[in-house]
Amino acid sequence: MSADPHYDLIISGAGMVGASLALAVRQTGLRVAIFEKRPQALCAMPDAYERASLVAAGSGRFLQKIGIDVATLGSTVERMRVWDAETTGSIHLDAEEAGEAFLGHILENRRLEQALHAAFADQGVDVFYGREIRAAWADQEQIHISASGNGDSRNGESGDRAYRSALLAIAEGRQSVLRKQLIQAPIFHEAYGQDAITATVWMEKPHRNIAYQRFLPTGPLAVLPFRHDSAGHPRASIVWSARHTLARRLMQMDDAAFLAALHQAFGPQLGHFVRIGKRNSYPLSGLHSSRYIGDRCVILGDSAHGVHPLAGLGVNLGFRDVQALTESIQEARSRHEDWGGSSALRRYQRARRPDNLANVMACGTLSHLFSNRSRGLSRLRDMGLLGTGLLPPVKRFLIRQAMGLQGDYHATPHR
Ligand SMILES: Cc1cc2nc3c(=O)[nH]c(=O)nc-3n(C[C@H](O)[C@H](O)[C@H](O)COP(=O)(O)OP(=O)(O)OC[C@H]3O[C@@H](n4cnc5c(N)ncnc54)[C@H](O)[C@@H]3O)c2cc1C
Repeated sequence: MSADPHYDLIISGAGMVGASLALAVRQTGLRVAIFEKRPQALCAMPDAYERASLVAAGSGRFLQKIGIDVATLGSTVERMRVWDAETTGSIHLDAEEAGEAFLGHILENRRLEQALHAAFADQGVDVFYGREIRAAWADQEQIHISASGNGDSRNGESGDRAYRSALLAIAEGRQSVLRKQLIQAPIFHEAYGQDAITATVWMEKPHRNIAYQRFLPTGPLAVLPFRHDSAGHPRASIVWSARHTLARRLMQMDDAAFLAALHQAFGPQLGHFVRIGKRNSYPLSGLHSSRYIGDRCVILGDSAHGVHPLAGLGVNLGFRDVQALTESIQEARSRHEDWGGSSALRRYQRARRPDNLANVMACGTLSHLFSNRSRGLSRLRDMGLLGTGLLPPVKRFLIRQAMGLQGDYHATPHR
């Protein structure tokens, strides 16, 4: 008999997706360990870039159920205004129309991660910071894991160490090494030819909890309602997607020139942009793994799929993966089945692959449709946008998508 520490679930990657999986599964009573390659000190620091995400209302409800109070972490989005720089088309989405108080929240990624880390540590998840899983191999009953690192772990361990688990969940983000080693499936990858520039900006007028998105021929510009600063000044979190050459130029500008360019690109709705925090830029691409499962292992979140940020969907799809995997584990346990076995994993894959693939494709199509100067496409855009204005049921559907109202999370503690 091996004396290696044994867990019911081991997770690689404690970003928003891996961390929420650790918490959700731990709350069902299973023994969970999580490996995160960043040192603990880095995870505990504020993010100088204040990178933020739109967390849809459906995801917010899931987070709330696992004990994360999203309302205290970010600002609400009550309305969305989406319009096209080249045509008259526009969409207005109001939470009220769907009978809800809000469409979602703008949450700072790092603050959400920190809330999740604090909660899972509190509830007895074993967390290994500064450690990576180097190799894993499965047999009939478990997956054997070899982890190494530089010893920055809560338990004071260092060097190589072996672990065992019924299941390994890989939530390492897009560049996942374990996905390549253990899933070995063909990956769909589409470069959009754009970079997204993110930053916090201060503006003259309050955002009134409206999320704006303007489609420019060079790419979409989102201005999202962010929490006020400590002096009560209104702020927004921007995601400006632009072709590589323009994005490079924008990144090279000084703050004053960038803010002037932003004002020109966005328009006068919020008055002048008066100050900006640190800018960062990310190359944009669509990604989808043709398989999510291997021998006693599974991928989720950005390790499995990546979308253009124009719909604010990325981490929301990841939270749907977390809910589906947690429910699949629960279902296997209630049937006295092996939750790391192929039938439970296939259930998870069946539940998530169609939704993820459809959204990767839809976001790619929208990006092409709106980031193009052709007249025909411009007319199509116009018709599409006006169509949604004319068709309240379509609009309601769009709101429900935006809010992630796809069914609620049911996993409960197992007895
Ligand atoms: C500009 C931009 C704007 C976006 N806006 C939105 C938005 O508004 N709404 C939305 O839903 N989504 C948005 N997204 C997408 C969202 O950021 C991602 O979907 C989300 O961060 C994915 O979370 P994750 O936990 O799967 O991966 P990640 O956030 O990449 O986390 C992976 C974690 O795994 C760790 N890790 C990596 N390798 C290893 C290893 N070998 N061992 C151990 N740990 C490892 C990493 O350190 C990290 O902590 C946006 C993306 C971009 C680029």
